[in-house]
Amino acid sequence: MESSIPNLLKQRAFLTPNREAIVFNGESYSFLELYLQAKELAGKIASLHVGQEDTVGILLKNRPHTFFIIHALQQLRARAVFLNHRLTPSEMEFQLKDSGAKLLIAESDFNAVTDEIKVMHPSLEAVSVEDVFTQKEKLIPQHEEYGLQDVCSIMYTSGTTGKPKGVLQTYGNHWWSATGSALNLGIRGDDSWLCAVPLFHISGFSILMRSVIYGNTVYLIEQFHEENINELLVTGKVTIMSVVSAMLYRMLDVLKERRYHNRFRCMLLGGGPAPRPLLETCVEKGIPVFQSYGMTETSSQIVTLSPEDSLRKLGSAGKPLFPSQLKIKADGEEAEVHTPGEIIVKGPNVTIGYLNREDANKENFNNGWFSTGDIGYVDEEGFLYVMDRRSDLIISGGENIYPAEVEEVLLSHPDILEAGVTGAKDPVWEQVPYGFIVTKASLSEEDIIEFCQKHLAKYKIPKRIFSVSALPRNASNKLLRRKLMDLLSEGGLE
Ligand code: ATP
Ligand code: MG
Repeated sequence: MESSIPNLLKQRAFLTPNREAIVFNGESYSFLELYLQAKELAGKIASLHVGQEDTVGILLKNRPHTFFIIHALQQLRARAVFLNHRLTPSEMEFQLKDSGAKLLIAESDFNAVTDEIKVMHPSLEAVSVEDVFTQKEKLIPQHEEYGLQDVCSIMYTSGTTGKPKGVLQTYGNHWWSATGSALNLGIRGDDSWLCAVPLFHISGFSILMRSVIYGNTVYLIEQFHEENINELLVTGKVTIMSVVSAMLYRMLDVLKERRYHNRFRCMLLGGGPAPRPLLETCVEKGIPVFQSYGMTETSSQIVTLSPEDSLRKLGSAGKPLFPSQLKIKADGEEAEVHTPGEIIVKGPNVTIGYLNREDANKENFNNGWFSTGDIGYVDEEGFLYVMDRRSDLIISGGENIYPAEVEEVLLSHPDILEAGVTGAKDPVWEQVPYGFIVTKASLSEEDIIEFCQKHLAKYKIPKRIFSVSALPRNASNKLLRRKLMDLLSEGGLE
């Protein structure tokens, strides 16, 4: 028999009805209120012909009604497709079509985008949040349980290495992701988790899922504002916060001599590599940073480093969360310690596969192990160090060059704001690294190459450095190294 869990929000509202579920701009909602709202909305969404296993696209901001709608879809056992609002209408349309969404629920702020999507996809029904709220409620069956294998959400990868892939995330994936995190961080009855990361990313959505599983409050933030957030941390209103490094930089910049309250117990840092100077500043200021490594396919973090190891293991992403496992694979075998190879992971939080991508499924899943496409190594104690993406590796005269390492050196130059490194074809070495930078002050190519010579082995030093006005990034603001060379032909040089 397939394992199941109780209807999560119904059970949570039964266990702790009066506990605060959401705090947003002075409004607050208990779990019971959240459940009643979600149930009512489920009846309204059902009147738009949505039922069990139907797929619904959502184009929503970090607002309480997004919580209501996501939970309403779960009450219907419909699948939510999370759209990143920085995507272009045609990128959104691809995700809606690929996932077979029959309805799109969008903020009315995005009406113009919705109209464009409708032109490309006339059979798609699109409604605003207000439209949903004013529907007549239909009587719907109460789902008492969710199968752990049932698909809860479809979330597309950021599209850094290629076209975004639709990741099927089951209730079991979310349950185990939340459990793995709790076994590491612990749960406290008075925990409140600040969510300033977007709900359409797994970093944000996993906060919503943990909240209903743990019964903790979510401080929901629509607009990231470093001063306001520091205030919540200094006064002890929140105990945990998820951040990416760009957010943390901004917060530390304005923190000055203040310290975060001692109730604040975890700054969960993820999404990409953590720069060393940032970690060192956090140690100085007594900020408990937990670095983490994860992806859409692992339903949030799968490897996490605790603060007690953060200096001793500077730059490591930590150890796998119980009960996940991790291996490094090189040349088809498990690699020795300190030997780079592809990071492969296994665990109940890992996706059951990509939607409509048989090729990627065949390539990336093997005997329960998922190939992440990232390269890293483990040390003798089993701590993981993430080096780079496999597809971005530069091989020059038989030597491996990791663009992230070269970019880190470029970024340590006080006048360089952004850096991207990629391989260019070379008749002698096959590939050589080229660097692309955004600077604060004018710098000569020779000066930068000279600077690199102090920090990098000769073969890793970019053969050419180009100053550009902006680096190519995707809707998640991630650097698209595969598009750097286009800057040369597109005339994006300064
Ligand atoms: P796509 O799979 O479409 O190319 P993506 O991999 O950027 O997009 P996400 O799932 O949002 O999509 O991002 C996960 C990736 O982010 C990881 O596979 C890894 O490359 C990178 N990443 C996450 N955490 C870390 C970390 N701590 N250090 C280095 N890289 C990280
Ligand atoms: Mg990926």
